[in-house]
Amino acid sequence: MVLRMTVGLVLTVVALAVAGRRLWWLKRLAFSGQPAPERIEAAREHVGRDVTTQASEVIGQRKLLKWSVPGVAHALTFWGFTILLLTIIESYGDLFSRTFALPGIGHWAFTGFVEDLFAVGVLAGIITFTIIRLRSNPHKEGRASRFFGSHTGAAWVVLGMIFAVIATLLLYRGAQIDAGVFPYPHGAFASQVVGHWLAPLGAGVNSVLEAVFVIGQVAVVLVFLVIVVYSKHLHIALAPVNVLFSRRPNALGPLEPMRSGGKVLDFEEADPDTDVFGLGKIEDFTWKGLLDMATCTECGRCQSQCPAWVTGKPLSPKQVILDLRDHAFAKAPYLLAGSDEEREKLPDAVKAEAERPLVGKDGGVIDPDVIWSCTNCGACVEECPVDIEHIDHIDGMRRHQVLIESAFPVEAAGMLKNLENKGDPWGMGENRRAGWITELDFEVPVVDGTIEPDIEYLFWVGCAGALEDRAKKTTKAIATLLHQAGVKFAVLGPAETCTGDPARRIGNEFVFSMLARQNVETLNEAGVKKVVASCPHCFNTISREYPQLGGNYEVIHHTQLLARLVEEGRLTPVTPVNEKLTYHDPCFLGRHNKVFTPPRAILEAVPGVQAEEMHRCKNRGFCCGAGGARMWMEERIGKRINTERIEEALALNPDTISTACPYCLVMLGDAIAAKKSSGDAKDTLEVVDVAQLLARSVPARTPAGGGADGANTVGADESPGAAEESA
Ligand code: SF4
Ligand code: SF4
Repeated sequence: MVLRMTVGLVLTVVALAVAGRRLWWLKRLAFSGQPAPERIEAAREHVGRDVTTQASEVIGQRKLLKWSVPGVAHALTFWGFTILLLTIIESYGDLFSRTFALPGIGHWAFTGFVEDLFAVGVLAGIITFTIIRLRSNPHKEGRASRFFGSHTGAAWVVLGMIFAVIATLLLYRGAQIDAGVFPYPHGAFASQVVGHWLAPLGAGVNSVLEAVFVIGQVAVVLVFLVIVVYSKHLHIALAPVNVLFSRRPNALGPLEPMRSGGKVLDFEEADPDTDVFGLGKIEDFTWKGLLDMATCTECGRCQSQCPAWVTGKPLSPKQVILDLRDHAFAKAPYLLAGSDEEREKLPDAVKAEAERPLVGKDGGVIDPDVIWSCTNCGACVEECPVDIEHIDHIDGMRRHQVLIESAFPVEAAGMLKNLENKGDPWGMGENRRAGWITELDFEVPVVDGTIEPDIEYLFWVGCAGALEDRAKKTTKAIATLLHQAGVKFAVLGPAETCTGDPARRIGNEFVFSMLARQNVETLNEAGVKKVVASCPHCFNTISREYPQLGGNYEVIHHTQLLARLVEEGRLTPVTPVNEKLTYHDPCFLGRHNKVFTPPRAILEAVPGVQAEEMHRCKNRGFCCGAGGARMWMEERIGKRINTERIEEALALNPDTISTACPYCLVMLGDAIAAKKSSGDAKDTLEVVDVAQLLARSVPARTPAGGGADGANTVGADESPGAAEESA
């Protein structure tokens, strides 16, 4: 007994010392980053919500279970290890007393059964992982494997360690049975099988084996602990912490304002020499950013869903996190050194790492093509099981490149200049914003000063909706439908400017701030309460980013409003639209803001429409390639994202592709045009907004109560969308 006790305790002290030292180092490294008081405050304020989040994300394994087979395998392993904490207590107890049993429940057959059940569950989990890893081998599949770029060697070591934990556990329990010291008379079915195998060795040998295997069990658990804190399996400890401090409800939707030293940056007072302007060095990340890096499990779920990666671009959201993590760890001695003298004495390799630019072509930690490939589609954030905030990090690096280095794709310069000077990305100017109104045969009120009290909605048209020919058809269809339903609405006309979304997403927070403040001022002065937006980017910015600047409105997307009007019987689709179609989810409407049902409800209500989903839809929808200001950048690397998306749609042989975003309309329209010219798509194939489809089906009638102006003469066949689309 003394020997096993001594060996067990010595091993424990050594392992805890090694693991504790590493954890202390990790804590110091994390806190070398910027403060993030807002995360701590949010966690404090929303304790109830956080408990629910932990229950669903960590204990319930919600995101992991979306991937059925690996999800179930991970859940079995996670839940197994949680239950097996009981067996670790038992093995430690066994070091001190061979007849140790858990207090209260230690002789229950149920306890023994549950422990064995989860031990077998963990074995099933790791066998499944082994098969998955053998089948999705990055050496064979290359970029198609989600493990491409992951540290696969370490993953095999950990799988081996988990097997060793379960093997020593069952062996020591089997030997305990044969030595007559097992606490469970019944229930522990797997241990009994092992006991049956070992029984021929006799009670004496099994007593010795019991001692060897229990020390083996303790040793394996301790080695595993050390490996965990030195490897990607650190996520076992860090995942709950990372989930606790992640953005709520998630890191989709709005971008956060720029912060320096934990405070929101005020551009009028900020000093580029002393304030943090975006992410220009690893120490510009907050401790939450550094925690993200340490928490990545290298599972590659984000990579497998990333449209940039899938189409052959250099951006992998996983690789971004891993490269940042490797750099942070390599630069850590420099960051943690107490003085310049200490830094001087560091090895040359560390000093060289400290000198590396965070973003740079030659020798940078992240290649510029990586950050500029991101469409901000959110697929990575949506998939990540440990709530890593990829978009915040990528856009944070963009902010520094744009604001401090003036380094960004040259073709985007025109867009930024146009935004600054003319208030729209094309530089067409305010006077043309209301041009579409003159193409309607009813009046649309333009707000002049304060919005009239009887006007329910301010219709936010957006730059594309007001100025881009294809998107203007959607705008006119929406206006016509609202008019037909008798919804009182008005527009800002020339007083509307770009929301600032493209500027913010490219990293120019200064221009975003200028445009957004101007719009908030206009809306507040007009007394606007309710906004209906046709562009999901405007919808996202006004509803979820303008509150950062004092703009608080009830914002609704046009598909939400139109679906409601159909449901209430204020719009009745009657004319059949006998077409086979598929709906493309705009990322900023769907994944970022969870509006999936209304556009589908509209399509369902239109008689004759046969809708079929693409394989990648709803939360897993595939980007059109325009978000993240990519609309204004050339796509020079890999396959075009819009081509990839259209090919998926073409596999369903639709007559029409529908969507609910002017950006998607343009991107998918361009891809269809290319396919038509190469003879790969039928000439009649078109892409339309769901509002246009609805307008084709709703017959003309005078709106109840006279509508916006009491004159409604635009019918199904005459509606702007129908007339122009069929032209
Ligand atoms: S936001 Fe989309 S494009 Fe950007 S890294 Fe994530 S998955 Fe890739
Ligand atoms: S960032 Fe998240 S999804 Fe991507 S590899 Fe890491 S843990 Fe997996």
